[in-house]
Amino acid sequence: MSDHLVHAYQSLPVNFTHGDGCYLWDSDGKQYLDALCGISVTSLGHNLPALTTAIQEQAASLLHTSNLYSIGWQQKLADLLCKNAKMDRVFFANSGAEANEAAIKLARLYGHQRDIDNPQIVVMQQAFHGRTMATLSATGSRKVQAGFEPLVSGFVRAPYNDIEAVRAIAENNRNVVAVLVEPVQGEAGIVIPDSGYLKALRQICDQHDWLLMLDEVQTGMGRSGKLFACQHENVVPDVMTLAKALGNGVPIGACVCNGAAADVIVPGKHGSTFGGNPLACRAAYTVLEYMLENGIADNAARRGEQLAALLRQGLAGNDQVAEIRHLGLLFAVELKQPCQALVGQALEQGLLINVTAENVIRLLPPLIISEAQTRALAELLIDCINQFTG
Ligand SMILES: *Cc1c(COP(=O)(O)O)cnc(C)c1O
Repeated sequence: MSDHLVHAYQSLPVNFTHGDGCYLWDSDGKQYLDALCGISVTSLGHNLPALTTAIQEQAASLLHTSNLYSIGWQQKLADLLCKNAKMDRVFFANSGAEANEAAIKLARLYGHQRDIDNPQIVVMQQAFHGRTMATLSATGSRKVQAGFEPLVSGFVRAPYNDIEAVRAIAENNRNVVAVLVEPVQGEAGIVIPDSGYLKALRQICDQHDWLLMLDEVQTGMGRSGKLFACQHENVVPDVMTLAKALGNGVPIGACVCNGAAADVIVPGKHGSTFGGNPLACRAAYTVLEYMLENGIADNAARRGEQLAALLRQGLAGNDQVAEIRHLGLLFAVELKQPCQALVGQALEQGLLINVTAENVIRLLPPLIISEAQTRALAELLIDCINQFTG
């Protein structure tokens, strides 16, 4: 272990050397089933030949020129993203937090353009939007914010999945310009709102000329069983942020905007040196094209149902299981006890999982997972949980 890394992470002492599809191998040659995808990033699995070739070809021709010049792959990716999101324009960044920063700046500009001098953005309790100053201020977790005060102002908080709370804000606060919300809260423990929630938010936003800004950094790119989670409710947002699985491991973020929101950012208002570079955009284009051509979102929906059925059956007798819930392969098994120790036990058994919100086992398996691999995942996890709860 290097003494020269900042202690930002409590990394497990396992070192993966290569991967293929749903599997990883460590430096001792031990194999693991990857049910986490580096937190919803490698949704198409490891070492996807089409992506490897695209990255190799791009590396051999051109890596970077800057946004001082037009970038062909950036335009191609924007066209394909917009066509499938039914939205108008994209700003490219390098991460989820950066995509959300772009959205927050866009909302403030939108407010100022409408003569609102102190624009406010409605955000939710338990939300997670990133670790930069603005995005951690938008985040609804004291753990993320503590020690970083003064926070960025301009956020109004509401309980998640509570439409009346947002209506009450609308009545009392004339400075609101936007709502920023996750379609399913990821870090909070895969919290799925009632159906109709996004539609109701869309209505409130329309009534008050607010921007509906959806953080699909974790829920997007097929993970929910649709390409974008908002498509479950046929809602088109004004702004949608993407990152994580967009590049399948190549860093990229996107702030997709629609209608009036698509014309808010003009030259000089925002930018990024690396954002939208040829390598990242070609990788993401290859990822999106692969997802569309191979019905990846549909597979996520089917495998999600299969996994839910297997786990409900296999864990039926375990009274420590509080709830099994999912939208596609955004998957949670909530226990009645804290279960961080399960991560290490599963690792021993060759299974990669995550625990969030203390007692929620979060699974974000590859969207390419097969029926047989889903069965193997269920069996491994059921054994781990039953051993753990004794
Ligand atoms: C992971 C995540 C982010 C932050 O993305 P980074 O790439 O780590 O900056 C933002 N929003 C949501 C919903 C996320 O899950």
